[in-house]
Amino acid sequence: MFDQLLSATDSAFCTLSSEEQGKILRFQQAILQSVIQSDSYLDEISLVCRLGEQLLPNSVGSVMLLDDAGKLLNVLVAPSIPPEGIATLNGIKPGTGSGSCGNVIYHQSPQFVSNTFSDPRWQDIRDIAYNFNLCSCWSVPIYSRNRKVIGTFALSSFEHRSPTSFHTILLEVGAAIISIMLDRKKSQDSMLLFEKVFEGSEEGIMVTDPNQKILSVNHAFTEVYGYTLDELRGQTPKKLASGQHGPEFFQALWKQINTRGNWRGEIWNRRKNGEIFPEWLSISAVYDQSNALTHYIGIFSDISELKSAEEQILYLSTHDNLTGLPNQATFKNRLEQALALATNHSCNVAVINLDLDKFKWVNHSLGLQAGDLLLTSVASALKQCLSDADSVCRIASDEFLIAISGCEDTETISTIVDKIIEKVAQPIQFSGQTLSLSCSVGIAVFPTDANNYDDLVNRASEARRQAKKSGGNCYHFSCEQLNTDSLEFLRISHELRDALAENRFVLHYQPQIDLSTGRLVGAEALIRWKHPSQGLLYPGKFIDIAEQTGLIADIGNWVLKEACTQSVAWQKTGLPPIVIAVNVSALQFRRGDIVKIVESVLEESGLQPNLLELELTESILLENFEQTLGQLNELKALGVKLSIDDFGTGYSSLSYLNRLNIDKLKIDQSFVRQIGNPANDAIIRAIIQMGHAMGYRVIAEGVETETMKTYLITSQCDEAQGYLFAKPVANEAFLQFVLEQKLMLQQGIGAELKI
Ligand code: C2E
Ligand code: MG
Ligand code: MG
Repeated sequence: MFDQLLSATDSAFCTLSSEEQGKILRFQQAILQSVIQSDSYLDEISLVCRLGEQLLPNSVGSVMLLDDAGKLLNVLVAPSIPPEGIATLNGIKPGTGSGSCGNVIYHQSPQFVSNTFSDPRWQDIRDIAYNFNLCSCWSVPIYSRNRKVIGTFALSSFEHRSPTSFHTILLEVGAAIISIMLDRKKSQDSMLLFEKVFEGSEEGIMVTDPNQKILSVNHAFTEVYGYTLDELRGQTPKKLASGQHGPEFFQALWKQINTRGNWRGEIWNRRKNGEIFPEWLSISAVYDQSNALTHYIGIFSDISELKSAEEQILYLSTHDNLTGLPNQATFKNRLEQALALATNHSCNVAVINLDLDKFKWVNHSLGLQAGDLLLTSVASALKQCLSDADSVCRIASDEFLIAISGCEDTETISTIVDKIIEKVAQPIQFSGQTLSLSCSVGIAVFPTDANNYDDLVNRASEARRQAKKSGGNCYHFSCEQLNTDSLEFLRISHELRDALAENRFVLHYQPQIDLSTGRLVGAEALIRWKHPSQGLLYPGKFIDIAEQTGLIADIGNWVLKEACTQSVAWQKTGLPPIVIAVNVSALQFRRGDIVKIVESVLEESGLQPNLLELELTESILLENFEQTLGQLNELKALGVKLSIDDFGTGYSSLSYLNRLNIDKLKIDQSFVRQIGNPANDAIIRAIIQMGHAMGYRVIAEGVETETMKTYLITSQCDEAQGYLFAKPVANEAFLQFVLEQKLMLQQGIGAELKI
């Protein structure tokens, strides 16, 4: 600006007389002095006008500026023009007849009018010239920093006169100085504005030098970080580092700032109190006109609240507000993952729908608060019953969904559900009252009942409706058969345990007859259960469950002991020795202790080993043949007899049979029942022949008719057992039966039994 001032005046200045030059220099000096002393730019500009007036007596100085729109001229200062004059001058629209100043703007050049009364450049505002006796008016442009004409500096005289070089220089110097003053004012204004923005900003701002030394931080910055400006000045931003970001993070950050001029992103920093917090930071590099780096400016906002709000929103969108359990969308997600995993590992997943019984009653009679409390406590009870791998959610007011992974069988599921029902029913206290509720539960099992989320959930709720229909406080499996089976299974296995402890089992005995002599040669011991409410139960009702629960081992041991003891007792009452046949299960062999048990039972009872016959099923032989064979050989070595029960129904291969050291084959009753059917008869004959070829005796079971007996005799079957001779009966009846047969024999009555 000063360059411009000098160059504008330089050459013309030299043409002035030394007195005139002195005047111009003093003019400048006086203004300079006022700039140092004064606070107001308007005072300074007024002074320029007044000094101009002094150097051009009988004149008035004025400065006019274009409005913001750049359309109209208004008076900025005119210290010697009265207010009414200023009023008439305001609002001049630049044009060819708009006076000296209007023409300066219009033509963008100085305008010197010596006679305002006649000059056409004044034709539109001639009144002003007359009214205020402004006879001549010289006006020059005031420029902005970027060389745009923004206003005028004029000296108007009360006489007609033309400017000399001195006057022209005076006006140009004056205009240049006013330009500087206006520019300085503008800078001050924007500086003031910047300061206001800097301090008033809600965002934290930091300014550093090119070496990242902190020069300034604003109020918001100190508020967020807890440091004062003095504590930070001269430090680098490293003072604020949280340690959360590695060196690569900062390398990338500075690389971007130095190549692109800015960086924007999320960063974790540390407050003075040590707290780490996230901020959204924008760093810009500032360059001067020569493209040299002068500053870095960092602007940030603390986003900890935003972050925790985000987390909160995420939590709310995935959880149930009241209970804190995952919501259905989250549950679905988890269940689908569990199903995928279960598919890969061939496992089951149980989906459980649980609905509280009569929950509405709680809400209606005790109020929503009690209802909420109950739901929250049910939610925590459910969580307690489940492992971390399982999921639970609330899908409606009092309806919950549960997913349990890796349950091997329905018994495991039933056990967990029982626990859940029991937990849910635990009473809670509310306003001095004790509340407790039952629930109805529906269970669907993947992959048996369905193989996708929707179907499993539907099946589980359908099953839950069934549970409700049955009066609630119970559970239903989706598959009805499974339901009854499962309940029955649980009940019976529970009761079997008690039966064993309470000695509720009893043995019945069924005679075995030698077909060639008609003599009683043995008896099969068959177990019965004296059920407290259902009367005498047959093995078909409970033996499978005893097998599945493993109870058969203990039951089998009891049978062995009881049968042997009984057989010895018979001998003591005078009966001839009778071979007692005892059924043994595969589990007894699997446990590996059958030999020891038989040995000790024989020892304890005192029964001769050859009077004990163990009936094995073909399934025993199919399982781990070599181990079983070893046990069978040891049993044989004890002197015990072995028979294969239900022969023909299993898959015994002849090669196996050949290696077994057994005594008897028992033809299964399904063949005996069909005697008379040629194909079936051929099988019976083949079994008998094969048995004999291997050195075994053959017995037929289920012999009910004379025809059957006759056929078996003609087929050379050795022994028979069946209702034709006697049904299995209790000990007393068995003794009675034997004695009756003996009496009949003694009396010569054609009896079947020969003892
Ligand atoms: P099983 O060993 O084949 O026993 C023969 C079954 O046929 C017995 O049924 C018997 O009552 C029945 N039975 C005998 N004669 C006739 C007849 O002429 N007609 C008809 N229709 N049935 C006849 P039960 O007592 O119901 O026993 C069934 C099965 O339970 C037995 O078949 C056996 O496998 C098993 N079992 C019985 N007691 C025991 C035991 O103490 N331990 C083990 N592991 N299993 C046992
Ligand atoms: Mg049997
Ligand atoms: Mg049988």
